[in-house]
Amino acid sequence: YFISIEGGEGAGKTTIVDKIERQLKKDGLDVLRTREPGGIKIAEKIREVILDVSHTEMDERTEALLYAAARRQHLVEKVLPALNEGKVVICDRFIDSSLAYQGYAREIGFDEVLDINEFAIEGYFPDITLYFDVDPAIGLARIAADEKRELNRLDKERLDFHQKVKKGYDKVKDKYPTRIKTINANQSVEHVFQEAMTTINEIESI
Ligand code: C5P
Ligand code: MG
Repeated sequence: YFISIEGGEGAGKTTIVDKIERQLKKDGLDVLRTREPGGIKIAEKIREVILDVSHTEMDERTEALLYAAARRQHLVEKVLPALNEGKVVICDRFIDSSLAYQGYAREIGFDEVLDINEFAIEGYFPDITLYFDVDPAIGLARIAADEKRELNRLDKERLDFHQKVKKGYDKVKDKYPTRIKTINANQSVEHVFQEAMTTINEIESI
């Protein structure tokens, strides 16, 4: 069973996924928790290229292709083998991040980015996607308050960019209304976690 986790900055993805992973393991499920690029050597190297340069240096379509390439390698090398072993795979970010960030917020075009990602994932869409929907102002305030967190260049975008990312996720929700389950991430961690677990427990085939 393939679950992906999506959301804008400061939605609390990492914290909540930690808790989900622990709970599902306690419930006796065989869980692989991963994130793109997921410790896959080739995908890590691709990710380094994306993060090491500035946005004026890297063309948006180059960036989108690199994300899609890293996604494919991680899918083939890590996600698919785990699914074949019957594991529940929880992946922090997947195709919808590219649709929202590169397709909509960076204005390449939703369908253009969908095309290259359909090529990359060959039909392996997640069974469900938990979308942690956060008000960008709340998300950015959380990041600012978190001293332990090291910001990369992509975390430092302005508020208007994150508002665009949220609109991008709205498009993703319109396109995939049954796959995407929206969780209100403006609430406290405990509430967000409870809402996420309720959604997961409604899956019958898990
Ligand atoms: O998953 P995480 O929030 O740590 O993502 C790291 C950064 O990569 C984020 O700041 C996000 O803006 C950026 N990103 C992106 N396009 C993607 C995936 C992530 O710009 N497709
Ligand atoms: Mg981030």
